[in-house]
Amino acid sequence: MTETERPARLLVIDDDDVTRMLACTALEEAGFRVAEAAGGEAGLERFADYHPDLVLLDVLMPGIDGFETCRRLRSQGIRVPVIMLTGLEDSASIERAYDCGATDFIPKPINWTLLRHRVRYALRAAEAVDSLVRSERNLSAAQQIAHIGSWEWDLGTDRFHRSDNYCALFGEDAVSFGSGLSALIERVHPGDRERVCKSLDSVCEGQRYSLEYRIQRADGQVCTALEMAVPLCDASGRVVQVQGTLQDITERVSAEQRIRQLAYFDDLTGLPNRVHFREALQSVLLRENVRGGHCAVVLINVDRFKRINETLGQDAADRVLQVLALRLGSGQAGAAEDGLSPDRLDAPRMARLNADNFGLFIEGASGRAAIEAEISALLARAGSPVHVDGQTLSVSFSVGMAFYPKHGDSAEALLKSAEMALGALRRRGEHDTIQCYTEQMKVDAEARLSMESALREAIDEDQFALVYQPKVDADRGCIVGGEALVRWHHPSKGLIGPVAFIPLLEEMGLIGQLGQWVLNQTCEDISRWRAAGLSVVPIAVNLSAIQFGRQDLLASIHDTLSAHEVPAGVIELEVTESALMRDTHATAEVLRGLHSLGLSLAVDDFGTGYSSLAYLKRFAVDTLKIDRSFVQDCDGGRHDPAIVRAIIAMARSLGMGLVAEGVETEAQARVLQAHGCPVMQGYLFARPMSEPDFRAALRDGLPGADRFRTNGA
Ligand code: C2E
Ligand code: CA
Ligand code: CA
Repeated sequence: MTETERPARLLVIDDDDVTRMLACTALEEAGFRVAEAAGGEAGLERFADYHPDLVLLDVLMPGIDGFETCRRLRSQGIRVPVIMLTGLEDSASIERAYDCGATDFIPKPINWTLLRHRVRYALRAAEAVDSLVRSERNLSAAQQIAHIGSWEWDLGTDRFHRSDNYCALFGEDAVSFGSGLSALIERVHPGDRERVCKSLDSVCEGQRYSLEYRIQRADGQVCTALEMAVPLCDASGRVVQVQGTLQDITERVSAEQRIRQLAYFDDLTGLPNRVHFREALQSVLLRENVRGGHCAVVLINVDRFKRINETLGQDAADRVLQVLALRLGSGQAGAAEDGLSPDRLDAPRMARLNADNFGLFIEGASGRAAIEAEISALLARAGSPVHVDGQTLSVSFSVGMAFYPKHGDSAEALLKSAEMALGALRRRGEHDTIQCYTEQMKVDAEARLSMESALREAIDEDQFALVYQPKVDADRGCIVGGEALVRWHHPSKGLIGPVAFIPLLEEMGLIGQLGQWVLNQTCEDISRWRAAGLSVVPIAVNLSAIQFGRQDLLASIHDTLSAHEVPAGVIELEVTESALMRDTHATAEVLRGLHSLGLSLAVDDFGTGYSSLAYLKRFAVDTLKIDRSFVQDCDGGRHDPAIVRAIIAMARSLGMGLVAEGVETEAQARVLQAHGCPVMQGYLFARPMSEPDFRAALRDGLPGADRFRTNGA
């Protein structure tokens, strides 16, 4: 480098003018730049401003001699090569020259041709040493930054040499660390010592290794280290030395643990999450597959959790989940207690899969009855009342279950099957029950799926139609109202009744769209009747519970009515009892809003839900519609006539209107009429009919509607 980039600078220090002159001439000829000084002091001064790459230094000089000059240079930390020019060939002064820090010596008389080769060689050697020192320093700095230390173990002498950085990882220096391999072993965490010793044995047999283990630092801290070691062999292939590095990876490991905690455990409950559950289940299935064993996948859902959420608020509901998680998961290994097994996850006993769903799998072939008994016992323990916010909640669970290999061969498939079983329970409205998956559920699910896509099409392509069923006042023999009922003209299956698709639309979240269509169509029909000069009776529109809970209900009704210029008094809304009772606080609010718009409200299917007189009073409901099931038996002598009588009496005492639904026989009509419920709806008077037919009935009346007419009316 020195020779190609710039000529190397040499300093010749000699009191002999001739030698100096000859040396300068020879060296300049060889391409060096040369400065000179005639004595030790002058040489040191010249050195300071000339910065030579090499010094040629005479030993014997007046003033300070060459030895002293060299010593002073070295004492300033100067490392440039110093070649001593000595006339003294005795070994004592050569030794002294080296002691003073000389790099080499050249005996006088000087061979001028050889001199330049010696100088060149010394410069090259100095450069090599320089770069070695530099790279050692860089390496050490890099190791320090990366928290890496290195070591060597000489098998022949059993010497264990380690770098300063290595000792620093243990919070020690080379002296306090002690020598020998035992010093290391003592500092390995007792739980990991065996693994470390095994690895050291293996490297002696020629196998490199990479190993994570815990070390105990002098300050008591436990760190995680990654050690890598390689064997070095002699010509015969025998391992003679082992070289290794040790890296402090504590930060990385704890970051990994945090990530693992986030990825595999549920924040709220600390239980394993769905990902963890699925992975653990998958590996259990692999094992059971080999063994030909069985496994049960159990999904546990908290009954009516939505209600808890709505009534107590999310914070309290979260606390309920935490309590339940603790009970369900009791006895389960803690989240990440074994700090050093980031790649190993214990099989969870209980996991939180999402919201209020917990999962569990039971390995082995204990029969279904035994498993059901085990689950029942677990749920009985977990289902004791929960106290939150000063309230005591009773909880129960519904369970869907699927078995490997019968109901699925993968974690995904089994979870899906168990979910289907749970879904079947939910659709049946059952609680506190264990339901096992059956093949029929899959058939049903497929049918539902194709129905769902057909329904989406139906909404897009307007395949719905309304029919109207008259409500008749038997005393007066005339139509006093009507109910709009929706029908689906399925392109291939023909006419489909609402019972077959309304619940599905609710599940799909599309009931709002249909409800809006129904209201719009009803208003459109009403305004057409009004335009035709017909005297229009109030028309009832059914509202699903889901629609009833929607924030935008009032606004959308208001907008629809105004768009068609239909007065609010002409529209009646029918809502089931259970929809009203879902959230009584919100219900009161909605009803106030509906009343302020001028709409009236009827409770549909009255008698089938939780009837609370107090609430009906508070809600100021306008009309009760006595459910068909009571009407149907009211002439049959069972206990129902008494119920019908009681409902009629109650409604009258509260000043509510009454409609009897599903009146099919004259006998039923007479009983209802006798007890004071003249308004009836049912096949006896008219089936639901098309819009033109209903319009005709409004104009001309219903044939035979006046057969119960009483004289007084
Ligand atoms: P619902 O509100 O109780 O409607 C009365 C149901 O009883 C209608 O069935 C009607 O055809 C039937 N019905 C009327 N008279 C008699 C009778 O004398 N005997 C018998 N056996 N049945 C009679 P439909 O039209 O099949 O409707 C069933 C249910 O679907 C309705 O029960 C209502 O809950 C729901 N629904 C109908 N249309 C709509 C709608 O537009 N929106 C919503 N959300 N639900 C609707
Ligand atoms: Ca109805
Ligand atoms: Ca009804």
